[in-house]
Amino acid sequence: MDQIHLVDLGAAHAEIADEIRAGFDRVLARTAFVGGEEVAAFEREYAAFGGVAHCVGVANGTDAVELALRAAGVTAGDEVVLPANTFIATAGATARLGAVPVLVDCLPDSYLIDPDAALDAIGPDTRAVVPVHLYGQPAPAAELAAALPSHVRVVEDAAQSQGASRNGRTPGQGGIAATSFYPGKNLGAYGDAGAVLTDDPELAATVRSLANHGSTVKYRHDLAGFNSRLDGLQAVVLRAKLARLAGWNQARRDAAARYGELLAGLAADGRVVPPTAAEGNEHVWHLYVVRVPGADRDAVVGKLNAAGIGAAIHYPTPVHLTPAFARLGLGPGSFPQAERAAEEILSLPLHPHLTADQQARVVDALTGALG
Ligand SMILES: *Cc1c(COP(=O)(O)O)cnc(C)c1O
Repeated sequence: MDQIHLVDLGAAHAEIADEIRAGFDRVLARTAFVGGEEVAAFEREYAAFGGVAHCVGVANGTDAVELALRAAGVTAGDEVVLPANTFIATAGATARLGAVPVLVDCLPDSYLIDPDAALDAIGPDTRAVVPVHLYGQPAPAAELAAALPSHVRVVEDAAQSQGASRNGRTPGQGGIAATSFYPGKNLGAYGDAGAVLTDDPELAATVRSLANHGSTVKYRHDLAGFNSRLDGLQAVVLRAKLARLAGWNQARRDAAARYGELLAGLAADGRVVPPTAAEGNEHVWHLYVVRVPGADRDAVVGKLNAAGIGAAIHYPTPVHLTPAFARLGLGPGSFPQAERAAEEILSLPLHPHLTADQQARVVDALTGALG
């Protein structure tokens, strides 16, 4: 039986293979390996696509989060409020710059940061709040920004939400956002890559300088920075995929709607809780995450995998229960919604090249696995 992949990078490559080869040849001819014309063109094109004035390409999404936090003025010892249920990098980037992650719980239906909990967590040392647009669905970043005291900035983690918007607003508009082009993201490179998005020319310039050894003029170093730059070969891949991203995101939305129909029966008797899109949100379905309350979730994932279906868990352990962040001293029970979600969720295959037949097979296998 054919595998049904969680993400199908091969199918995406097949669509763009000729363009990629031609683009790689251009880069090789120019030997423009770090930065260069392809990178500059991608930055312009992604800024236009994302509805922001500036896109600064960097080496990966984790660096992008750290650089955005730094540009927003976060320094060692500051507190940064972020959700307990996110990919570890949101907390890792915060910790790497010496700031203190202050975790808060999520909402049970959307899995997005609980805005009231975020506001309650603000103290005199808080410098930033990081809403994560988890699974492709925008968290209420603008609403949070409006409610925060003036010493706290919103820094969006948009690693999973390329092309998403909330009430017409895209990540980074009027503020600053970080994104990742890890291969499996909605817009993925063929290696590591990321970007910072903002309308603010000063924030963009700070990120660009920090990411290039604190320098804007060669060998003049104004800031103690580091090296986190986008390379020309990745920019070729990103440009080819960006030209298709709107269509690919639409294919994801169509597939999500089809899952909604296929899962209606299981949802009606409460065995599966399908994901929802909050009012005002243009969701880009990076992941299709369902809950299976009352079932042995790990056994269900095991049965799906045995049937050749690439189901997975995003993420099995909330940040506070990882060994890396045990030092925060937040034991089990600290964030009931995040912990319950981590026990009940699983991600079904979802990507732009998934077929209706494959989706029917996934739901049949899920029905069987639930017994
Ligand atoms: C992927 C991801 C990152 C980190 O991106 P990398 O490019 O892997 O460093 C950060 N935050 C979230 C929510 C992510 O999904």
